[in-house]
This record gives sequence, C-alpha cells and structure tokens, in this order.
Amino acid sequence: MHILIVGAGLAGVSAAWYLRAAGHTVTVIDRNAGPALETSFANGGQISISHPEPWANPGAPLTVLKWLGRKDAPLLFRWPAEAARIHWGLQFLRECLPARTHRNTLAIAHLAAYSGVQLRALREATDIHYNSLSRGVLHLYFAKENYRHGEAQQRVLANLGIAAQMLTPSGCVTAEPSLAHVETRLIGGMLGADDESGDAQRFVTELATRCRETGVNFMFDMQVEKIHRDGQRIRALTVMHEGCQQTLQADAYVIAAGSYSRPLVKDLGERLPIYPVKGYSTTLQLRDPARAPTVSLTDESCRIVCSRLGNSLRIAGTAELNAYNTELDPDRCGALRRWAEEIFPGVCDTTEPNYWAGLRPTTPSNLPIIGRSRFDNLFYNTGHGTLGWTLACGSAHALADIIDGRSPGIDFPFAGRV
Ligand SMILES: Cc1cc2nc3c(=O)[nH]c(=O)nc-3n(C[C@H](O)[C@H](O)[C@H](O)COP(=O)(O)OP(=O)(O)OC[C@H]3O[C@@H](n4cnc5c(N)ncnc54)[C@H](O)[C@@H]3O)c2cc1C
Repeated sequence: MHILIVGAGLAGVSAAWYLRAAGHTVTVIDRNAGPALETSFANGGQISISHPEPWANPGAPLTVLKWLGRKDAPLLFRWPAEAARIHWGLQFLRECLPARTHRNTLAIAHLAAYSGVQLRALREATDIHYNSLSRGVLHLYFAKENYRHGEAQQRVLANLGIAAQMLTPSGCVTAEPSLAHVETRLIGGMLGADDESGDAQRFVTELATRCRETGVNFMFDMQVEKIHRDGQRIRALTVMHEGCQQTLQADAYVIAAGSYSRPLVKDLGERLPIYPVKGYSTTLQLRDPARAPTVSLTDESCRIVCSRLGNSLRIAGTAELNAYNTELDPDRCGALRRWAEEIFPGVCDTTEPNYWAGLRPTTPSNLPIIGRSRFDNLFYNTGHGTLGWTLACGSAHALADIIDGRSPGIDFPFAGRV
C-alpha cells in the first residue's frame, strides 16, 4: 500500500519508520525545509514514563486559579479567548473529574511503558545517536503538598508496574550530586528509574535518514492546502510547492501535523479536540560540565523540566493558551533562565539563552488520537500534547498495527475501530 504521511515531526517520522518496516511504500510531506522544525524541535528531552498523570486532574482547577494573574505562572490563559479555546477549556474541566483522570492516567501509563520498550528496540536496531541518557527522571518536590501528591502518584505507578522510588533530600543528592546546592530546600524526590532523556530533534533527523535509506520518500517545503474526499474515502491532497499547486494521491493517508491537524481536517467534518498549548525552552551551553546534572529533572513546584543534552542543558516548561501564536514572551523566557541560575548557579552560560517556543498539540484528556478517522483510508497519529517524545515510538508502532488490521495489543482507547 502507498501511504502518505502529513508531518515530519516525532509523530510522522516514527510512523514512517514502522510503516516502512511493515512493507508499505511511504511518502512523508512537510511544509518545512527538513524534519522536526516545529514542536519536535527543542522540547524538554524527557522520556517520562513515570509521569502519566494528565494536566486535567482533580487538583488542576484550583491550581490554575492560584496562578491567575501571575505573568510568569506555569500556566497562562491569554484574553480574549476565541470560541475554540473556550470549548476546549470546558472539555478540559470535564476531564478533571476523578474517574476520567483515573482512566486517562492508566491509558497514558500503558502507552508510555509500551513506548519505552519500542524506543529501546528501535535504538538497538538502528544504532542512532541523539545524546540519549538512561539515567531516569528525578521529580523534585520543594513543597510538602507536592511531595504528598508524589507519594500518591508513586503508589499508582507501583500498581502499574512502573518503577518509581521516593527519595529523601540526601537520596536525591546521591542520585544526582549536582543537586547538593539545593538539598536543604528539598522536601524529597521521586526517581523514575526506567525514564530516559535525549534530543528529540536529533532523534527525528537521524531516524529520517534511516527511513530514507530504507526507501521512504520525503518531500519538504510542501504545504497541504486541502484534503479531497470521495464518499467514505480520501481521494487526493492539494499541496503547494515553490508557488505551484500539485495533486498527490495515495492508498491511505496519515495526519501527523501536530497542532495543525485540527484545522487540516476541519473541512472534512472531522472535529479533532486539539488545542495548541505554547511551551518554552532555553538551551544553555555548559560552563562547568562536571557540576551539571545527567539525571533528567522535573521541578514539580513550577513544572519546569531539565535535561542534559551533550554539552548543554535544555530547560523547558510553561503552558500558554494563546491560539497559534509562537512569539517569545520575555517574562516566561526569564522564568526558565532564572530557574537555571537558581538551581545550578555558575554551571551554564546564561548570557546566550537560545530561547524557543513550540505548540503542544494538546487534547483535553491528554490522550493522543491514534487510529482510524470516519474515512476508510484516513488515519491519525496526533494530539500527543505534553508527551509526544515519550509516546512517539509506541504510538507509531500501534498505528502501523492498526493500519495493517492487527490489534496493537495494549490497553488504550484507540480512535475508530481497531
Ligand atoms: C516546551 C515543550 C517541552 C516539551 N517537553 C517534552 C518532554 O520533555 N517530553 C515529551 O515527551 N514531550 C515533550 N513535549 C511535547 C512534544 O514535543 C510534542 O508532543 C511533539 O513534538 C509533537 O510532535 P508532532 O510530530 O505531533 O508535531 P510537530 O513536531 O509539530 O510536527 C508536525 C509537523 O507537521 C507539519 N505540518 C503541519 N501542517 C502542515 C501542512 N498543512 N502541510 C504540511 N506540513 C504540515 C509541520 O511543519 C510539522 O513539522 C514538549 C513540548 C514543548 C512545546
């Protein structure tokens, strides 16, 4: 079968890999000049299996209220809000109900654990290098209420068979000696030992090279303008390339266009519940690599994550609901730089902070949309929100199974019939 994938980010290129491995003829198209130049470009770097709890949880509404009005708060809701955001916000509130949160947590945990296995197998099969570290993710608690929440999460993870261990402040410093400076301020930590970290953009770029070697065709600088249907099937795509319109046809189509997946399929009558949630990162060169962390970190008090990528530290976080705007807000950039200076003083060069912002393709439940659409030959691998790197390999592997009519064999609410 000839399969056309729209989007060359984590979701699209991973899907290309598994679909080609299953014997399909695969073409990937993207409007950018190369792979991973949008949201997969400079994310937090975490493969965070130990954090399946969705943003929408029973504690979220109160936390969001507490943050209202703070320019550097982890979450910012810019006004006025357009209809799509209000609608998404109401769906988000519904997902905060305890039963929904429980269901969503389990589904994400299953997919994350499966993804970890697939990522390790892919790494072994391809020998690709992307500054990966298998030293775990250490969740840091600087407040008692965060620590108590961490303990409850650890019990949930234990029931799911996901490795996570509560640590005392000195235990945190033993796991990651570069934290010695903040030991007295810490209440404790939780170490997700099976977690990893690595540079998502490098991963996608290297994987795209391997895909090309196996015969996948990549078409860049090509913008999909319209998707044409014919009854229950997709017939063709109209694309723009160097100012000229073209028509592309395939047997099946996969939408992996990140935050732009929703507008792309809107004219087909498909309503994907995806909203672009802006996040920021800064990539700081190391001045003193010996004092920089190698365990990936999540500061649970301000939702900032930090990963060592070779000779630099990637610090990422914050969530801003402001449609498709990717401008850099100085207050939110400053919060990331200050975090680095406070937790690791003198370790990084903060004079050239290299700020970046990307749009997380976020569903209200945090569950990605993987599987069939209402059309016989249109599939989705999108809506991965905060966890697109963590869930990339498992989602793509499962999608390839679904397209070939096999059951992915994991407990997850895939889209359409499986
Ligand atoms: C600040 C930040 C930190 C993050 N940290 C982490 C983390 O630590 N761990 C984790 O697991 N996840 C993290 N994420 C989430 C993760 O980065 C995303 O979920 C993931 O990158 C989404 O990948 P994607 O392939 O779906 O989208 P994208 O990478 O955006 O790819 C979509 C592609 O589709 C193309 N496209 C769109 N529309 C069209 C069109 N009409 N025609 C042609 N091409 C089109 C775009 O050019 C783009 O290349 C983070 C995200 C952010 C913003």
